Amino acid sequence: VGSLIIVGTGIQLVGHLTLAAKAWIEQADKVLFAVADPITAKWLRSLNATAEALPYNKNLKRRKKTYSEMVERMLIGVRQGLNVCVVFYGHPGVFADPAHQAIKQARSEGFTAQMLPGISAEDCLYADLGLDPGRNGCQSFEATDFLIRHRRFDPTSALILWQIAMVGNLGFYKEGEHLHGLTVLAEVLATHYSFDHEVIVYQAAVYYPVCEPTIQRIPLFRLPEADVTPISTLYVPPQPPITLDCEMMTRLGMSFAKET
Ligand code: SAH
Repeated sequence: VGSLIIVGTGIQLVGHLTLAAKAWIEQADKVLFAVADPITAKWLRSLNATAEALPYNKNLKRRKKTYSEMVERMLIGVRQGLNVCVVFYGHPGVFADPAHQAIKQARSEGFTAQMLPGISAEDCLYADLGLDPGRNGCQSFEATDFLIRHRRFDPTSALILWQIAMVGNLGFYKEGEHLHGLTVLAEVLATHYSFDHEVIVYQAAVYYPVCEPTIQRIPLFRLPEADVTPISTLYVPPQPPITLDCEMMTRLGMSFAKET
């Protein structure tokens, strides 16, 4: 019987792939991939000669449409009784609708389906920017979703916004078209942070060790002028912490003795 396994390559070429993901790729009857760069594609073919790109139809109006085509393509082999391994970049379940949809669909048709975790852009961000999500907490939103649903968040905790080059765009990225969305995003953020609050436009190194991560530190009001690409992520550092609730600390039996 057929099965579906979905794995991620991580962000950096070759080095981020887990040993488990590599083993699944090598032993699959059919490998399909949705990775952006040609070098990774070539390398996947060297691991498994059946490797083939998933359809990505940029002629459609909405990204969503091409996602359902991708899901259908993933399931064809599974229904034919093949062990299909699908490869996404980063973590295959992070901002990757079709991966989750395919797992759900395969299971509903009675097939075994599993996703393996991978290294996401957020994992790289923690390492490159020295951010520990355990320190102040960490909130992560898709930028358009953040704006159109008025997501409630805490400015004294870290904020990560994904897909900032695609604000308000349900189609595909076009250079220069992201400026309006970015301006609106900066405006909305400025109602929560001071206008010169330092934010970081971040891009993890993809071809390590040949290139370095890109870390642009800029005041919030200059965000629209930043160099933003489809793989940029915005990190908004927390504002200074609010004062502790001493009454609550007493109620919880916490001591006020200064820790050294
Ligand atoms: N599955 C991927 C995310 C795909 S969605 C993952 O696990 O990371 C695409 C978004 O991911 C981009 O808009 C950007 O916000 C983020 N992203 C992808 N590559 C990145 C990189 N090299 N550096 C920083 N952010 C990146």
